[in-house]
Amino acid sequence: MVYLFCGILSGAILAAICIPLFRRDDTLESTIIEETEWDLLQRKKDVVLGNIQDLDFEYKCGKLSEEDYQKIRGEMSAEAAVVFQEIDSIESSKDLDALIRREVSARKNKTKTGSPTAVCPSCRAQNSPTNKFCAECGAKLKH
Ligand SMILES: [Zn+2]
Repeated sequence: MVYLFCGILSGAILAAICIPLFRRDDTLESTIIEETEWDLLQRKKDVVLGNIQDLDFEYKCGKLSEEDYQKIRGEMSAEAAVVFQEIDSIESSKDLDALIRREVSARKNKTKTGSPTAVCPSCRAQNSPTNKFCAECGAKLKH
């Protein structure tokens, strides 16, 4: 009876962990296309916290001895602390912003090389095709 209760409860917790995880991944992937270090850390954090939760459960269900529980719990907490620290250092150093900016500019550059540019006949500078005069030397651009 106790085991059945634990089974149901762990299923519910698993769902509670997984559902917001998938939702957040959707929005994250629309912002950053490639997997980033921050992204990986978030996943790692979810795994570590999930493990701790599972462990707490097993302990409550009587599957673990007090000694084993304290030992493993300590190790897991240390692991979680490292992940939290890494996430915190990335977030506080605004690396995430830099990361997004880099991704965005990478995408911009990709479209830029694909679009036509008006090359200045006098200084060879690349101008926007909408420019009538060269932004570098002021020479008239041919269209
Ligand atoms: Zn020019």
